Amino acid sequence: MTAGPAEAAMAPWTLDRALAIAALDETVNAVFVTDADGVIQWVNRAFTELTGWAAEEAIGETPRIFQSGLHGRSYYEQLWKTIRAGKPFRSHVANRRPDGELYFASQSVTPICVDGKPAYFIAIQEDVTKLMEQQRELERLAYIDPLTGLGNRRAMYERVRELVAAGRVFALLIVDLNDFKAVNDCFGHTTGDELLRSVSRAIQRVATPGDAFRLGGDEFVVLHQGDQPLKDNALAARIAARSRKDAKRLVPDCAVTASIGFARYPQDATNGQDLLRFADLALYAAKSRGSVVAHYAPEMGARAIREQTLRQGLGIADFDREFSVAYQPIVDLSSGATTGFEALARWTHPTYGVIAPDEFIPLAERSGQVRGLGRWVLRRALEHLRSQADDHLRMNVNVAYAQLLQRGFVDEVMTTLDEFGVDPARLELELTESQEIDDERILGVIADLRDLGVGIAIDDFGTGYSSLSRLARLPITALKIDRSFVTELSGSERDQTVVRAVISTAQAIGQRVVAEGIETEEELAVLRNFGCDEGQGYLLGRPARVLAAGERQAA
Ligand code: C2E
Ligand code: MG
Ligand code: MG
Repeated sequence: MTAGPAEAAMAPWTLDRALAIAALDETVNAVFVTDADGVIQWVNRAFTELTGWAAEEAIGETPRIFQSGLHGRSYYEQLWKTIRAGKPFRSHVANRRPDGELYFASQSVTPICVDGKPAYFIAIQEDVTKLMEQQRELERLAYIDPLTGLGNRRAMYERVRELVAAGRVFALLIVDLNDFKAVNDCFGHTTGDELLRSVSRAIQRVATPGDAFRLGGDEFVVLHQGDQPLKDNALAARIAARSRKDAKRLVPDCAVTASIGFARYPQDATNGQDLLRFADLALYAAKSRGSVVAHYAPEMGARAIREQTLRQGLGIADFDREFSVAYQPIVDLSSGATTGFEALARWTHPTYGVIAPDEFIPLAERSGQVRGLGRWVLRRALEHLRSQADDHLRMNVNVAYAQLLQRGFVDEVMTTLDEFGVDPARLELELTESQEIDDERILGVIADLRDLGVGIAIDDFGTGYSSLSRLARLPITALKIDRSFVTELSGSERDQTVVRAVISTAQAIGQRVVAEGIETEEELAVLRNFGCDEGQGYLLGRPARVLAAGERQAA
């Protein structure tokens, strides 16, 4: 479009105007001009490309032909109000091409006034479809965990809000892998990542699409609609089983398991934050009692606080001030004479008072404090033994597996025996029946202790999975039958048979048999009758803190 010399001569600005029209026609943005009623009068070249309308089809129509249906009436009202008042209107607009395809444009509509009134409107639109798509993708990514493709914490909260708003009843399950750190440490992060992806797939197979999330690390969340906690339990069990199976395939030597805690809306909590917190407490409870699934209960909060306080307390405890040892007699069942004592740790906590070892020993085991505590108990026990007039009495001391694995443990036992002048044969260490006893290193330490002359007793026999024949191959000196068997003795024929068999088998290979927790004369009579060597229990003597010769205080 070039202006001829005649036109150029008409007025000094004519050429500029021609240029301006050329510029509008050539610009990459779509431009169209309407009259005061919105009827399209002129369009530029880019217009057809953007809108899909040919110039001759569009001219005479109104911009209504572009409408996508995505903007409400108020959008158009606002537009007309603004431009009729002589002001430009800027917005993002979603329009449709004649074939229905959606596109996004950044648009400005500017009135051109004649005699102070808008006579024409010029609309300029720039295609921003790609930009919008990128933005949406970014927005979507902000809700996605890149490793697994599951929704992230934000997405989880969003979904919880949706479910709450819709008045749904649902459970929030937190899935957490046990020993995941060990996988990362032993096999590297690539395998760790692979494991997380495979667990996420396991979860996706059983969760409703869009209701599984990864919060980070090895922590996943599943939302489960419905009002039956039993079904939550079943779902959790399925997730745990599948995760375990997948982990086994990937890292066969690592026993990776999943623990799951859940809380329900609206029964347990009425907002997303509390729901997550309570599910987390339930998870913690599941882990600390070694179970796969736990449903939140209000007392879990108090218990977690107590556990936390105890754990911290253990870390800073002055053993001499807060701990003591109670001694429970072990009695020869045929003669009734006391053959020795079992040393039992007691903790008098500054705020909670006396705490049973069943509560603090597992905490101490997890924090590693059990080594220091065990060393302290051994010293007190041997000190106590030295003070006894009878130099045939034995002292039984419980030890945790973590103690045995400690470097120099056997030397330490030897030095302590030396220090208190106690014959090694008078010390018997009690190990609970557990699979850990199969560990090569543990077997080595047991052999070294036996070489030293120290006795080894298997504690709580019957609660674990050891077979007698396997224990028979270990160089142990005594077998302590768990209290649960003794309690059942008077009622159950089956238990009688089992106990009788255990006693005769152990004795046949030279192991002493000690029955724990004898509380009644009847139990005592049956055990005596079976030829059980020794017994321990409230009937024969309670654990007591010996203050001075002849003066005792129950503990
Ligand atoms: P355990 O070695 O099996 O000790 C026997 C437990 O049974 C003691 O509980 C004792 O008080 C209790 N008991 C004894 N006779 C009876 C009875 O007739 N009836 C009933 N109901 N209970 C009886 P306690 O002192 O609470 O110790 C619990 C466990 O804590 C012990 O079980 C032992 O495994 C562990 N433990 C205690 N002290 C230590 C320690 O110094 N180091 C380690 N590693 N563990 C310890
Ligand atoms: Mg014991
Ligand atoms: Mg026991």
